[in-house]
Amino acid sequence: MFNNLGDRFKDIFKKVRGQGKLTESNMKDALREVRLALLEADVNYSVAKNFVSRIREKALGEEVISGVNPTQQFVKIVNDELVKVLGGTNVALKKAEKGMTVVMLCGLQGAGKTTFSGKLAKFLKSKGEKPFLIGADVYRPAAKKQLKVLAQQVKVGSFTIDESTDALKIVQEGIKAAKDENATYVIIDTAGRLHIDEELMKELHDIKDNVKPDEILLVVDGMTGQDAVNVAKSFNEELDITGVVLTKLDGDTRGGAALSVKEVAGKPIKFISEGEKLDDVSAFHPDRLASRILG
Ligand code: GDP
Repeated sequence: MFNNLGDRFKDIFKKVRGQGKLTESNMKDALREVRLALLEADVNYSVAKNFVSRIREKALGEEVISGVNPTQQFVKIVNDELVKVLGGTNVALKKAEKGMTVVMLCGLQGAGKTTFSGKLAKFLKSKGEKPFLIGADVYRPAAKKQLKVLAQQVKVGSFTIDESTDALKIVQEGIKAAKDENATYVIIDTAGRLHIDEELMKELHDIKDNVKPDEILLVVDGMTGQDAVNVAKSFNEELDITGVVLTKLDGDTRGGAALSVKEVAGKPIKFISEGEKLDDVSAFHPDRLASRILG
C-alpha cells in the first residue's frame, strides 16, 4: 500500500533539494507534482486541492531556520499536513463510563464486517477486556455461522438466533446474554447489502434507536478508493457514525480512501485492517501512517 505515493513524494523532495529558500517559483513545480501524486493515489479532488494550498501557505510563510535546509522544511510541512488530513491524532475506541460498551458495526456486504468483528474481539481481549459477539447479519446466510466460528477461535462468548431474520430481536436478546456473561464490550455484526438502500438503513436505524450504541463503526473496503469515501459520507449522513474501519489495506490499494475519508465524511478512522487473519488489525495512528508513506 502507498508504495507509489511514497515514491512520488521522494522524487518531489529530491527536486526541491539544492534550493536556498522555499519560494513561489521554486515551489510551483513541486506543488503541482504533489497535487498530481495525490490525484493518482485516488485522493478526493478537493482534499488534494486543499492539501496543496495549505502546503503552499506554510512553505512560503516559513522563516529560514538556521541548520534546517529547505528540503527538510518541505518534508516536515508535507508530513504535518499528511498527519492532519489523516485525522491528526489517534481517536481511541470509546469505553462506557458504566457497564458494557456497545459497539455496532455496519457497512456494505463484503466490506469485511464479520471478519472485523472477530478481529476487534481479539484486539479487545488482548487489552484485558471481555468482549462478546452478536451475529445480527440476517441477510448474508453464512455470516452467523462465520461469526460463531470466529468467537470460538478467539474464545469469547457469542449469540445469534439461527432461524431468525429479525435483527432487532437478535440484538436485544444478545445484549441480555452478554450482560449475563458479564461482558465489558458487546460487538454487533449487522447486515450489509450490495448497495445502500432504504431497507438496510431502516434496519440499522431500528438497532441504533433501540440499543443506543456507544460506537457505530462503519467498515469500508479500502480497495474501493473513492467509492469507500462516498459510502462513508452517506452512512454518516444517515446514521451519524462515530468512526470508520478501513479494511483490505494490504491489497493493491493506492491509499486514496485513507487520505480522503476523514475530510470528506468528517469522522475519524479508528482501525485499519491489513489482511484476512485475526491479528491483521491495528488501532489507527495518523502519524504512523504518514511516516510509512514518506518512508
Ligand atoms: P462482510 O460481508 O462485510 O461481513 O465481509 P466479510 O467479513 O465476510 O469479508 C469479506 C471478504 O473479505 C472475506 O473473504 C474476508 O476474508 C476478506 N477480508 C476482510 N478483511 C480483509 C483485509 O483486511 N484484507 C484482505 N485481504 N481481505 C479481507
